[in-house]
Amino acid sequence: MSKTIMTAKDLCKSYASGGVQNHVLKNIGFTLREGEFAVVMGSSGSGKSTLTYCLSGMDRATSGEITYNGKSFQPLSEDKLAVLRRRDFGFVFQQMHLVANLTIFENIAVPGYLVSKPKAVHAKAEELMERVGISGLAKRLPSQVSGGEQQRAAVARALINTPKILFADEPTGSLNSKAGQDVLNILTEFNQNGQTILMVTHDVKAAIRATRLIYIKDGKLDGEMEMGGYTGEHTAPRESQIIAWLSSMGW
Ligand code: ADP
Ligand code: MG
Repeated sequence: MSKTIMTAKDLCKSYASGGVQNHVLKNIGFTLREGEFAVVMGSSGSGKSTLTYCLSGMDRATSGEITYNGKSFQPLSEDKLAVLRRRDFGFVFQQMHLVANLTIFENIAVPGYLVSKPKAVHAKAEELMERVGISGLAKRLPSQVSGGEQQRAAVARALINTPKILFADEPTGSLNSKAGQDVLNILTEFNQNGQTILMVTHDVKAAIRATRLIYIKDGKLDGEMEMGGYTGEHTAPRESQIIAWLSSMGW
């Protein structure tokens, strides 16, 4: 069993609206191990994004504890949390959020300058562009490449500081199926080379990439299923297994 990298214990998140508390995450207990490709599923509004934001330190939980590398998050100041996020975590969202007036290369490199020397950042950006298959697009603006290429650039940007955990919230949600598969192939390849990933998805064709599935229902962790590593083979039975599991969860 590989090393635990992150845990959540009794994690709760509530929003106050109109004097009423909306309890979005309810006593979530969760463990992420090094090298996992954990995939979170659950219906819309069940709290998947909120969980991702809390675990990645983009938002603060209302109560409970998150530990990363054995240390609790909660006591960290905003500045310390920002440094941790920048150095140790990467993020990919459904929308790419690339900076419109920076080139693809610059978009990928920019978060690196805050952590490493320019020369090292440039070498890393070039290596990542190669690995995600967009080397020829370095000088283009985001508006001059396809949505799939933008998302591949966003994945490269998320990996520029060699994060310990890559968080991805519906990274294929706005892509056509071919572009989505390209992004999933990239994520799978990085995972097979040791990258720990936590991904949210609605899509069974994305979920088959998981080494473990997690189901969230109404803010509670309702079920988990170990999958074993994705090899690209036996995808149909893997898909059926997930569909059966989802339907047992009330999907
Ligand atoms: P999912 O990603 O599973 O679709 P979310 O985590 O985005 O779900 O949202 C879960 C619930 O939390 C929803 O009911 C949503 O309206 C509520 N919620 C999310 N963000 C906020 C916020 N900033 N303020 C108030 N309520 C929120
Ligand atoms: Mg969401």
